[in-house]
Amino acid sequence: MTEILVIGGGYGGITAAKALDDVADVTLVEPREVFVHNVAALRAVADPDWAERIFLPYDRLLSRGRVVRDRAVRVTAAGADLASGAHLDADVIILATGSAMPFPVKPEPHDRDRLAATHRALSDAGHVLLLGAGAVGIEFAGEIKAAWPAVEVTIADPAPDILGGRFPDEFRASVREQLAALGVRLLLGTGAGQAPAADLTFACYGASVDSSYLGDDLAAARQPDGRLAVTPQLRLPGHERVFAIGDLTAVPELKQARLAQAHAEVVAANVRALLAGGPLADYTPAPDAIVLPLGPKGGASYAPEVGVLGPAETAGIKATMFIESYEEMLGLARG
Ligand SMILES: Cc1cc2nc3c(=O)[nH]c(=O)nc-3n(C[C@H](O)[C@H](O)[C@H](O)COP(=O)(O)OP(=O)(O)OC[C@H]3O[C@@H](n4cnc5c(N)ncnc54)[C@H](O)[C@@H]3O)c2cc1C
Repeated sequence: MTEILVIGGGYGGITAAKALDDVADVTLVEPREVFVHNVAALRAVADPDWAERIFLPYDRLLSRGRVVRDRAVRVTAAGADLASGAHLDADVIILATGSAMPFPVKPEPHDRDRLAATHRALSDAGHVLLLGAGAVGIEFAGEIKAAWPAVEVTIADPAPDILGGRFPDEFRASVREQLAALGVRLLLGTGAGQAPAADLTFACYGASVDSSYLGDDLAAARQPDGRLAVTPQLRLPGHERVFAIGDLTAVPELKQARLAQAHAEVVAANVRALLAGGPLADYTPAPDAIVLPLGPKGGASYAPEVGVLGPAETAGIKATMFIESYEEMLGLARG
């Protein structure tokens, strides 16, 4: 039986591991004891009902394979050394170690008490400063204003406009109008040092990628920012059986969970093709699209195929923060 090692159990890793569970011996290596649904992390800060729901157990993800709670410290084309001292051999490796952002944007399972403490601190705050006018800072502003309308919220960013990405002006205008209506102060062209003091400040920028675990045989794929160059089949250049997916990759597109999952689907199909001796498929980078909530009732969305959607449609799309699909993937669906 082919041994497949998936390193990292975020959105991409769980999708790839599950999709290959029936054709190979899959081992998913993940240091966290539970999957973190970080798409809903900012809602979990504002709404304590969500704070427990974003942590989902891995136990029922795989029927045949296994989830090993450990961290890969050195990965080569032949296998992985783990922090515990164990070593796992592999025929195929899928790297899916993602990216990190400061608390509370990408919280860890051990951050539960900190989430509750941040909720309490926000309840007592007069003025909150969010550094970064990208999707994260804007989404956080919406969550804070929905839960605590009287709290003064400022977003500061050295950039001249909100949101990176290739979005139409109509989309940015809708977001700016809604922020203004919520009373969020937007300070563009303003670095952290020039922003006014606040009771609480949160860094909402700067995803970091750690790929320092790559062995010498794989390290050539590392880019200066830690992300990995991949071929159109999502393999590391020069390696037939080592794939990389999700935020870890240098694929030229937005870094999103849905895209990490799209990579995982292509890689799962490519691994099946490798096993069957068939041709591999290419991944086509996705055009920029986003569903950006501003609290449970607002927000804006854009996708090239549908154009710009307003607050009601956006709130509808994100009403449950897509949690059902992860509960289902992890074997936790109710009923
Ligand atoms: C607030 C917020 C809201 C977002 N909302 C959306 C949204 O609505 N839609 C959307 O599509 N995207 C959204 N995103 C982006 C999305 O969260 C990321 O694109 C996604 O997490 C990437 O998935 P991934 O599988 O590549 O990596 P991650 O989810 O980062 O998972 C990586 C996993 O690898 C593990 N790991 C790390 N190092 C090692 C190691 N050495 N050994 C073993 N395991 C390791 C980590 O513990 C982690 O579990 C949002 C992001 C934020 C911050």
